[in-house]
Amino acid sequence: MGQISDNLFHIHQDLDLCFDKYQRDPTSITLLCVSKTKPIASILEAYQTGERHFGESYAHEADSKIKELKEAGYNDIVWHFIGPIQSNKTKIIATYFDIVESLDRIKIAERLDAQRPAGLKPLDVLVQVNISEEDQKSGCSFEDLPALIAFIQQKEHLNLRGLMGIAKETDNSEEIENSFMALKNEFDNYRKQYPHFDILSMGMTHDMESAIKCGSTEVRIGTAIFGPREYKHKENA
Ligand SMILES: *Cc1c(COP(=O)(O)O)cnc(C)c1O
Repeated sequence: MGQISDNLFHIHQDLDLCFDKYQRDPTSITLLCVSKTKPIASILEAYQTGERHFGESYAHEADSKIKELKEAGYNDIVWHFIGPIQSNKTKIIATYFDIVESLDRIKIAERLDAQRPAGLKPLDVLVQVNISEEDQKSGCSFEDLPALIAFIQQKEHLNLRGLMGIAKETDNSEEIENSFMALKNEFDNYRKQYPHFDILSMGMTHDMESAIKCGSTEVRIGTAIFGPREYKHKENA
């Protein structure tokens, strides 16, 4: 067994323990493999073990990987865009991705809607909410959320599925869980109005267990699957 499949085996074991501990239905939680900066061979190793959801953060890096894999016949991968979005990258993102998790402002929603190619189904989107109370982090504020959601709901080529959040990087799990619970509460409130909302994306390598405890339906795991990232060719997303 290779390193990546070995890692995935252990992550699924950890996830199973969390499902038992917090009485979560295993079918209600998706593992998103965050493959940014990682080569196609690594994606394929995870694919061979059965993974189908992959997350990328840099538009140009991702579009060449996605094209290559589609040309090689891997058409059943669900591609998630999870990085900060610059407006000059929305065309690439709207063209190549299945779901965008980092939508955080009206201008970007407008562009993704306009640039989603005709003939493709509406682009699934999540609104990224700033739950970490750190100014430099991207994400829509809780205050601005109602207006952004209302705007997206009117867009023919966007299909809003739920919310995404990134917790502060800290060892204080109480602080992390408070911010996850705030997002979970918001998600539950919106579900009364929009019952089709089905994705609450929260949890990364260091806070996966807290996220599942707090009701996450999708954990985004990079380091624990693929190892540390190398930023040699870092581009601006
Ligand atoms: C890189 C990234 C991840 C993965 O983080 P790890 O700590 O490596 O698991 C998750 N979510 C987002 C938005 C990311 O940019």
